Amino acid sequence: MSSPHLDDDVLDALAMKRLYQEAESAAIDHLLVCQQCRDRLEEAEEFIATLRAAGESTDRIQRALSDLNSRRN
Ligand SMILES: [Zn+2]
Repeated sequence: MSSPHLDDDVLDALAMKRLYQEAESAAIDHLLVCQQCRDRLEEAEEFIATLRAAGESTDRIQRALSDLNSRRN
């Protein structure tokens, strides 16, 4: 990996509880030592919670997340 931090994709998957177990353990290991990624995860979780509260479907949330990620890059 080029960055020591978690990928946006990983954080999004984690926030949506869609990460498979092995990847989730690795991600959580990193989160335990990295405040920066914990903040980013919190942001992703808030974003998803907001969309869910608005009654968006999971597919729409994923599309919104892709848009968000492409804006970050
Ligand atoms: Zn990190």
